[in-house]
Amino acid sequence: MTPYDTNNIFARILRGEIPSHKVYEDDDTLAFMDVMPQSPGHTLVIPKVPSRNILDAAPETLAKLVLVVQKVAVAAKDAFEADGVTVIQFNEPAAGQTVYHLHFHVIPRFDGLPLKPHSGTMEDQAVLAANAGKLRDALAR
Ligand code: AMP
Repeated sequence: MTPYDTNNIFARILRGEIPSHKVYEDDDTLAFMDVMPQSPGHTLVIPKVPSRNILDAAPETLAKLVLVVQKVAVAAKDAFEADGVTVIQFNEPAAGQTVYHLHFHVIPRFDGLPLKPHSGTMEDQAVLAANAGKLRDALAR
């Protein structure tokens, strides 16, 4: 398996070298807005420890991560008054992975609204900031 690249974009977000719209953080996990959302409120949930994807992640890393994925999914449904939530996770280029630090996509879904393309269009920073605020508020309820 290709080794973990310490300069991948999510590692750089974790080190504070690149800005992000954070919605949740604890000792093990960070959640922030996807800059190219496939639906309003599209959020990424990542572990702080390095792993390339689910194939090399420690079981205890995944166990902690999935609890936050659930927390964010529940809050996202509330924050965006979504009809449903899609949770997706890609492993290796053949599966569509483009950033090589383990992450789960949490994507609010709305009846009749198809997903936009994966890694498609960059969202306006003000929209991302507003959506991050809505999600933080829902997480605090
Ligand atoms: P994947 O294809 O599963 O590896 O997904 C990577 C995701 O990261 C895509 O949905 C991108 O839109 C998103 N992305 C790329 N760069 C950034 C960034 N700097 N901040 C937030 N999301 C990003």
